[in-house]
Amino acid sequence: MAKGTIKIDENRCKGCELCTSVCPQHIIQMATYFSARGYRPATLVDPAGKCTGCALCAMICPDVAITVYRETKPVSGPKIQVAPA
Ligand code: SF4
Ligand code: SF4
Repeated sequence: MAKGTIKIDENRCKGCELCTSVCPQHIIQMATYFSARGYRPATLVDPAGKCTGCALCAMICPDVAITVYRETKPVSGPKIQVAPA
């Protein structure tokens, strides 16, 4: 399973909660405090590192407030050699 994390820009978030409803890992919650804009911003609560970087939250966010970071591993496998012509 891929590993990921997200960063939520509180200055963009309007607290619509769409991201909390789509996250398959249920690791986005609404904060108990208000942002400078007067909304309760979405917050990542992921102490167990469950985020897979699937980006569903970022895709549904109407305010482009979420940036997704996904761990990428180098692809291992057979090396392909091109035979000389
Ligand atoms: S990237 Fe996927 S798993 Fe991670 S917080 Fe967003 S919806 Fe949840
Ligand atoms: S979908 Fe976007 S605007 Fe709505 S709560 Fe989540 S981060 Fe905030």
